[in-house]
Amino acid sequence: MDIVRCVSCDGYGWFEDDDGSTQDCDWCGGVGYVYRDANGVDRRIPESDYQQVADRLEQLETQRLRDLGYTGDAKRPWEQAIRRAHRSTDET
Ligand SMILES: [Zn+2]
Repeated sequence: MDIVRCVSCDGYGWFEDDDGSTQDCDWCGGVGYVYRDANGVDRRIPESDYQQVADRLEQLETQRLRDLGYTGDAKRPWEQAIRRAHRSTDET
């Protein structure tokens, strides 16, 4: 299964409203990336998959930010989701 940049938010995972507030992208669930199957159909990455695709998303996000010439911190919603899901067992 390929992972591609969300066509709706272009990898951002969120939109900024005119008033400056932000909202998560509905298409990708705020992740910024979606699965693309062999038929070229995109679908949202389920939260249960975040951990196993986190490394892949990290690479894609690093590449995207490099393309943008952006050097600041990335917003990584999938990592936040992972931290929430594994708070009890994963915290060091
Ligand atoms: Zn999106």
